[in-house]
Amino acid sequence: MNAQASRIAAEVDYARDGKQYGFLRLPFSTHESAYGWIPIPVICIRNGAGPRVLLVAGNHGDEYEGQIAVTKLARAIDPRKMSGRIVILPAANLPAALAGRRTSPLEPGERGNLNRAFPGDHRGSPTAMIAHYIDTVLLADTDYVFDFHSGGSSLLYIPSTEMKRAEDPAKTARMIELTKLFGAPISCIGITDIPDNLAVAARRRGLIHMGTELGGGGTTSLDALRILEAGLRRILHHVGILAADPGVGAPQPPRMMEVGGPDYYVYSPEDGVFEPLADLGDTVAGGQPAGAIHFPDNPAREPIVVPFLRDGLVVCKRVPARTKRGDCLFHLATDLDA
Ligand SMILES: [Zn+2]
Repeated sequence: MNAQASRIAAEVDYARDGKQYGFLRLPFSTHESAYGWIPIPVICIRNGAGPRVLLVAGNHGDEYEGQIAVTKLARAIDPRKMSGRIVILPAANLPAALAGRRTSPLEPGERGNLNRAFPGDHRGSPTAMIAHYIDTVLLADTDYVFDFHSGGSSLLYIPSTEMKRAEDPAKTARMIELTKLFGAPISCIGITDIPDNLAVAARRRGLIHMGTELGGGGTTSLDALRILEAGLRRILHHVGILAADPGVGAPQPPRMMEVGGPDYYVYSPEDGVFEPLADLGDTVAGGQPAGAIHFPDNPAREPIVVPFLRDGLVVCKRVPARTKRGDCLFHLATDLDA
């Protein structure tokens, strides 16, 4: 598959008991630092054999609830009171996280997007090397992977979990069970694959995977953070790593939904200023106006009204008003029949 050895060296020993904070040393020779490395933080918390979980945050650097929740969790866990192992990447694409950006500033455009870099390349760009390490070292040695996203700088989401169906129906059922326990208001099953993202890399290895879309707009949502912190405790208890936390109540049952295809998305047809004509949480019908694109630089020109292409619930909305042709303005979800 992708068997070349990673050039990244871990300061932590994944087979050792206790709590270890360290860095993944990604060799990066630059004008300023000839023998330097990029220090990607990693935490390993282990107590004997047992279930193995990988928690990923900062896959996109401008999505913050995950980055906060997993570092709080790491500091809070007493390794003597758990079983198995949790490996945590709180800022998986560190250069992107430090810049507060979706993508790494070390690379142009899409090449700096960790969630479009799988399965990665052991001698590629820093982002490709991180993807390769996650795939060949961390995904190869875990049972579960949870990847905490939000909408980032350009999108805002109703707090949701996201998963893909596995080839094995028992694994799909297991993932649905975890999304119900997590307790976000919406549990979305994605139909469309992004072939080079972490979810697909996890499925290729037959892992139990769950992602989130928690808030967005480059902010931290208090509501989304509370949902994440409680959900994380519940699923880590459920998989057998942590004892039940008496401070965490039962989950609210999520609305089970799917994102079924390209017609769930609305895109801008022109450069201009986006006026939303619907909001998050609205139930809309196909043909209904979704937004108008205005041209303040050419005031005589009528705005273009963009419709929704189908019925559904508005779960995601663009944040910045300034918009280019091809930018996503909204996406919908629909209730699962099952
Ligand atoms: Zn993301």
